[in-house]
Amino acid sequence: MTAATATATARTGLAPYQTRRTFAIISHPDAGKTTLTEKLLAASGAIQQAGAVRGRASMRATRSDWMEIEQQRGISITSSVMTFEHDGLTFNLLDTPGHSDFSEDTYRTLTAVDAAIMVIDMAKGIESQTLKLFEVCRLRDIPIITFVNKVDREGLGALEILDTVADTLALDVSPVVWPVGQGVDFKGTIDLIGKRLLSPSGEVLETFEDVEDLMLDETYLADPVFASAFEMLDLALSGYPAFDRATYLEGHLTPVIFGSALKSISVAELLMALGTWAPEPRPQPAEPNPIQPSDNKVSGFVFKVQANMNANHRDRIAFVRLSSGTFKRGMRLKNVRSGKDMAVTNPMFFFGQSRELAEEAVAGDIVGIPNHGTLSVGDTLTEGAAIKVTGIPNFAPEIIRRVRLTDPIKAKQLAKALSDLAEEGVAQVFRRMIGADWLVGVVGQLQLEVLQSRIEKEYGVPIAFESVGYELARWVAAEDKAELKKFIDANRSTLAEDKDGNPIYLAQSNWWLTRMQQDYPKVEFFATRERA
Ligand code: GDP
Repeated sequence: MTAATATATARTGLAPYQTRRTFAIISHPDAGKTTLTEKLLAASGAIQQAGAVRGRASMRATRSDWMEIEQQRGISITSSVMTFEHDGLTFNLLDTPGHSDFSEDTYRTLTAVDAAIMVIDMAKGIESQTLKLFEVCRLRDIPIITFVNKVDREGLGALEILDTVADTLALDVSPVVWPVGQGVDFKGTIDLIGKRLLSPSGEVLETFEDVEDLMLDETYLADPVFASAFEMLDLALSGYPAFDRATYLEGHLTPVIFGSALKSISVAELLMALGTWAPEPRPQPAEPNPIQPSDNKVSGFVFKVQANMNANHRDRIAFVRLSSGTFKRGMRLKNVRSGKDMAVTNPMFFFGQSRELAEEAVAGDIVGIPNHGTLSVGDTLTEGAAIKVTGIPNFAPEIIRRVRLTDPIKAKQLAKALSDLAEEGVAQVFRRMIGADWLVGVVGQLQLEVLQSRIEKEYGVPIAFESVGYELARWVAAEDKAELKKFIDANRSTLAEDKDGNPIYLAQSNWWLTRMQQDYPKVEFFATRERA
């Protein structure tokens, strides 16, 4: 019996959901996420089609290329989720858009995963986008495995990377795969878990009981690259804690694997670490009570909605993360927000670029449900129970614009377009309390371009955006309703309502926001809001 079948057999006592590993890869653009995704799929045996993920990399080529592809859709839909099987486990990899402009979508995707891989470019350390995404993971205590990519290139020293991660993220780090040299001097890796010394092509050069023995081996010590790697590893091992799964699961410690996605170095070890350490589906925060993945009744929530291939049909796919129960095709599920039932007849699973009908799915799985706008981001689906999944936020927009209609006859179509696209999460839409202006709020400039292009192409409404002089937006609320009313009555001209009627304050600058907070100490200003 091979090692793989031995583990697979050991998993037979588990409930199906316990074999799911649902995760995302977070990184800064260009760190190597796409390459790593391909290599993980290849290492799992899921693809012969190396390059299946490549389509996405070309999406970034230029802004206009990206727009064209986005308009054709398709590519980004199928790569939103990639499911693959390995060693008796089902891995669901949720894609987070690489473009920093789409951070809102990315954040919401992170609400649907149980674990994350953080990819860091060895030459660059922690970059801005990585830091932002890490903070979201921390908010949700999502355990993270760190993959330090590009050891085949010159970069920062391995010890320096560990220090940077530990200091910047205030997180315990624990080296588990250590590089011997890097760039042209790269001579292999030390797998501290498997207790093996591996060559650059992954052959086992040595096995050891205790890494100390390896580090005292004269044959290797004679080589200055090995001698230096051992010295650094010695410092790392004395300076940082040994890997501890419980601490990892709490999100306080990250195991660190040095490797190269491009050269397939340490990718198998990463997959092994993910399968062995990453958690099975976790309980889902919800009201009135958290949902346990072992609950018999089906429940799930929509974390992403994407327009379908054919823009003229306004078909959309809602991506649902199942939180409990065993879903079967054809089941009727209730949308708790609208109170309406729907028969789910064509649910889909995604494999690389292809999709197929989902006959059965369990907690941790991602199911795509085609619909005509009945499902929006944040919706909870259940077999009837009045449960509401929580923790799927809207983020206060960082760019606020007035929508100017160039053809006033189309006011009605504009309202429809904005409402549809807001449901889809393309942008947030606000109505000013005074006047009839539509305002849109986004986190990144590119979102505005996509919005404009889609409203024009799909709804036939040409629009332009105008600056309104607001730089910040904050949802407002107060325990004392009279206080809130007082604030609203005095500041109507700088207030708007979101699509669910919640008041949001628009500030010209941070100075104004601070001033309002001082003037109205009983009013709270929120940068995020739970979706209805
Ligand atoms: P993404 O933007 O994070 O998805 O990054 P990509 O996977 O598209 O990689 C960005 C660039 O880095 C590409 O040119 C890759 O070929 C390159 N790259 C990825 N992994 C490695 C690696 O391990 N070593 C080297 N030298 N280059 C890599």
